[in-house]
Amino acid sequence: DDRIAGISSVIRVIRDFPKPGILFQDITTLLLNHKAFKDTIDLFVERYKDKDISVVAGIEARGFIFGPPIALAIGAKFVPIRKPKKLPGEVITEEYSLEYGTDKMEMHVGAVQEGEHALIVDDLIATGGTLSAAIRLLERVGVHVVECACVIELPELKGRDRLGDKPLFVLVS
Ligand code: IMP
Repeated sequence: DDRIAGISSVIRVIRDFPKPGILFQDITTLLLNHKAFKDTIDLFVERYKDKDISVVAGIEARGFIFGPPIALAIGAKFVPIRKPKKLPGEVITEEYSLEYGTDKMEMHVGAVQEGEHALIVDDLIATGGTLSAAIRLLERVGVHVVECACVIELPELKGRDRLGDKPLFVLVS
C-alpha cells in the first residue's frame, strides 16, 4: 500500500530519549500531517470494519490518540486502559514486568462484558510486555481479543513472540 511510505516518512526518530541509548519513535510529527494521520486511521478502519468488534481498548497514552477515531468509524465503543490510580471508578488491575521492576495497568469494572470482541490499540510495540498485559486484562473478564494493532513495531525486540497466538497488525516495521 503506497500510503505506508508516507506514514513512515513523517515518524520522527529522536536519539537518547527518554534516556541515553534509546532511539525514540515520535508519532507527534505524524499527527501534524493531515494526510498521514488520516491514512493511518483509514488503514486500520479498512481492516477492522465489518469484523464484529464491539470494543476498541486503547493503551495510555498514545493508544488514546489512535483508538477513538478507529472505534467511531467501525461502530465500536472505546475503553481506556490506564496507568494506576487514574481511573475514578472500581478497577481491575494487571501487573507486568519492565526492564527494571514492574508496572500496572487498570481498566474500569463494567466497561466490557463477557463475550465481547476487542481490538487493542497502541502506537508502538517494543518488547510486547505492555500489549501482553492488556491481553491478559481483557481475557480475565471474558473478552475475546481479536487482534492487537500498532502503528510501529520494533521487530528486533521480538515483542510479537510475547503475544502468544494473538495476531498483531502493524503499519510500519
Ligand atoms: P513494550 O511494552 O516494551 O512493548 O513497550 C511498548 C510501550 O512503550 C508502548 O505503550 C509505547 O507507547 C511505549 N514505547 C516504547 N518505545 C517507544 C518509542 O520509541 N516511541 C513511542 N513509544 C514507545
